[in-house]
Amino acid sequence: MTFSLRPTYDEPRLAALVDALRDYLDGELADYERDRGITHTTRLTRTDLEPVWRRSRELGFYGIHLPEEFGGQALSYTQLAALKEEIGASGRALGHCVLGDMGGPLRAGDILRHATDHQLHKYLLPLVRGERACCFSLTEADAGSDVRSMRTTAVRDGDGYRLTGHKVFSSAGPFADFAIVVARMADTGGDADPKPSFSAFLVDLDSPGCRVLDGATPMSGEHIESDILLEDCHVPAANLLGEEGEGMRIALGRVTTNRLLHCPSVLGATRRALDLTLDRTRHRKVAGGQPLLALQSIQHKVADMATEFYAARSMTYAALAALDTGADVRTEAFMCKLFVAESAFRILDQAVQIHGKEGLTQGNEVEYLFRKVRMFRVLTGTSEIQKNGIAKGLAFLT
Ligand SMILES: Cc1cc2nc3c(=O)[nH]c(=O)nc-3n(C[C@H](O)[C@H](O)[C@H](O)COP(=O)(O)OP(=O)(O)OC[C@H]3O[C@@H](n4cnc5c(N)ncnc54)[C@H](O)[C@@H]3O)c2cc1C
Repeated sequence: MTFSLRPTYDEPRLAALVDALRDYLDGELADYERDRGITHTTRLTRTDLEPVWRRSRELGFYGIHLPEEFGGQALSYTQLAALKEEIGASGRALGHCVLGDMGGPLRAGDILRHATDHQLHKYLLPLVRGERACCFSLTEADAGSDVRSMRTTAVRDGDGYRLTGHKVFSSAGPFADFAIVVARMADTGGDADPKPSFSAFLVDLDSPGCRVLDGATPMSGEHIESDILLEDCHVPAANLLGEEGEGMRIALGRVTTNRLLHCPSVLGATRRALDLTLDRTRHRKVAGGQPLLALQSIQHKVADMATEFYAARSMTYAALAALDTGADVRTEAFMCKLFVAESAFRILDQAVQIHGKEGLTQGNEVEYLFRKVRMFRVLTGTSEIQKNGIAKGLAFLT
């Protein structure tokens, strides 16, 4: 893999997809955002999103990674990553709607594999068609990294369950029709049975006993988070994903793939910042009328930024290629998530530094990208948790 700020691909199918995606992002989608005045901080509605889901599906991008029987093109993880990187690099506010990250097939992730026929037809196929949307609700106020300490419980009740609890930071919650909720089985995890058992459920967000509340606004300024409040909410047994007790395995299985697939999005955003920074160094004049890039201290900064980017990108695509062969890349996924998050943060910090006051000014793209990329050191598992995972993997190797 060579270094480039606008990668090209030898594989004709992928090259054509990347070209078509760039055209859509820079053309039709850019126009749509401009016409509607949509920015990263707009309070988006379903009316804003549905036309983009539909159009992205018509163009073949929405759910493109899925098998053909689900209307996808059965992309490999590496091919999907190349598309995700382009979206990250495009700077489009609605980029997360194109492949289905925002409530669509990518948010559901591996869940599709665990669905029964009923779940497939009622929930997941409409989701793949862009008619329904979902969020993923694992985290609680007092259960983040230590997710097993969650308090949301499921009690068996006739032909179903009653769920009670309060989930926070459910991304895409404001636009979702249903949530994938993980809850602790109520008769487990107490003094009598110290080993808690967790199950995953598809919960209709308009069910009696379920409320979707405005979530916190993260530092990126995006309004895409919800709290999901469950008060004795009845969920039919048909909505149990997999078997009782498999909830954490299903949820964390999704997280391992997602962890790796988040990396190309962040790489894309970092690539964009690097591009903007190089441009700035060529055009910004300093003492003596010379451009910033003529200063050796600036050259060293951009050299470090580009080198870290190249390393982060190379390891990510190497892990994705291994995943495509069916290899177990749990440890590598932790490594990539850690290195991509930490190096992207360092790169963005230098991008802000090189942009001077412009980089500190709200409305400047680098200032936004700094805040957006900073979040990645926490979400989808913090950097410290990635290190715990790597150490565990190493212990297993010896
Ligand atoms: C923008 C955003 C979107 C999100 N989207 C979703 C979503 O869609 N669905 C969802 O379920 N969740 C979501 N989350 C939640 C996210 O996954 C959690 O924030 C994350 O797992 C960390 O949990 P926490 O914030 O509670 O931090 P804590 O667990 O409280 O951690 C605090 C600090 O302690 C450290 N720490 C904790 N435990 C250990 C340990 N064992 N070893 C070493 N260090 C440790 C952490 O690394 C961190 O630095 C989202 C969060 C954000 C910010």
